[in-house]
Amino acid sequence: MVDLQRQYQKIKPEMDAAIQAVIDSTAFVKGAQVDQFARHLEAYTGARHVIPVANGTEALQIALMALGLKPGDEVITPTFTFIATAEVVALLGLTPVVVDVDWGTMNMSVEAVRKAITPKTKAIVPVHLFGQCAEMEELLALAREHNLYVVEDTAQAIGARYTFSNGHTAQAGTMGDIGCTSFFPSKNLGCYGDGGALFTNDDELARKIRIIANHGMTVRYHHDMIGVNSRLDTIQAAVLDTKLPHLDEYTAARQAAAASYDKAFAGCDKILVPERSAHSTHVFHQYTLRIVGADRDALRERLTQAGVPAMIYYPIPLHLQKAYQDPRYKAGDFPIAERLAACVLSLPMHTELDEEQLAFITGQVLNSLAN
Ligand SMILES: *Cc1c(COP(=O)(O)O)cnc(C)c1O
Repeated sequence: MVDLQRQYQKIKPEMDAAIQAVIDSTAFVKGAQVDQFARHLEAYTGARHVIPVANGTEALQIALMALGLKPGDEVITPTFTFIATAEVVALLGLTPVVVDVDWGTMNMSVEAVRKAITPKTKAIVPVHLFGQCAEMEELLALAREHNLYVVEDTAQAIGARYTFSNGHTAQAGTMGDIGCTSFFPSKNLGCYGDGGALFTNDDELARKIRIIANHGMTVRYHHDMIGVNSRLDTIQAAVLDTKLPHLDEYTAARQAAAASYDKAFAGCDKILVPERSAHSTHVFHQYTLRIVGADRDALRERLTQAGVPAMIYYPIPLHLQKAYQDPRYKAGDFPIAERLAACVLSLPMHTELDEEQLAFITGQVLNSLAN
């Protein structure tokens, strides 16, 4: 699905030097590269504050802690996504409220969010799924109307740009109160281990986030809040700072691969290619097809046999997961998410796909569907 080896080989001298410099300094935690990377990512994203942490899941947890949410508060999140968002909501004793998504963009449905708002709702957590922003203008307006926080999960969409109706554009993760991202190796900006970050334009939230991520500590050994220990280590920061200048070229490579897939599948009525949002660019963390009028699982099996990896993101919506069984929800409640779970198929998507590989993959997909 990804080719991190070839990507590394292209930047090996600069990457090896950056990692060696951390080892030589032995400042494995809180080395200078951590702040340096955060400042560079602030410049890149336009976020006023970037606060690096240990991974994307903890970024989400720290965000909800910084907003001071209390047990019983409801947090709205899409049901068709990775588990992390609902997981941290549940861990903090908050109440996850899941909503359906749009068939085309597969992102959180604004209408569904509107209907899910109750007097207990405190926050909306849109996930910019597969690499394009959810409908932020409408979600932000809804949040303002009901006095709700917005925490963007931008783990899959770093670098995506959203354009508001007044022409203003902003990057994924910088529009809500807080944005949370992940630097897991296969993400669009990935390190060589685990990593994550929070984005915010609010000075007071940034202060709280920094304290919470550091054991709730203001002055050394004085703990004013309950916190966690969540740090991006220096080697990972050095890796990320080396890759950040290449991010635009990585994104362009993903977009070129997506365009090539689109073209190959244009004439196939059993395939719906990823629908583009009218307001967001797509950075293609995943290239996800919807297979209609054909057996998705049989197709995946044939592709696997032909040596083409293909993955199902995500096979089970949150409301049907065993750990999240809830008397409020049952099968059939979120028909679009359930239909997507049964028909999505993600093809290999990374920065190193060449013409030959793309031709082989698309040939195998079309062949498999023709038989
Ligand atoms: C990867 C991912 C996360 C979690 O990030 P980790 O760094 O693996 O903890 C959260 N949300 C989404 C949508 C993701 O894709």
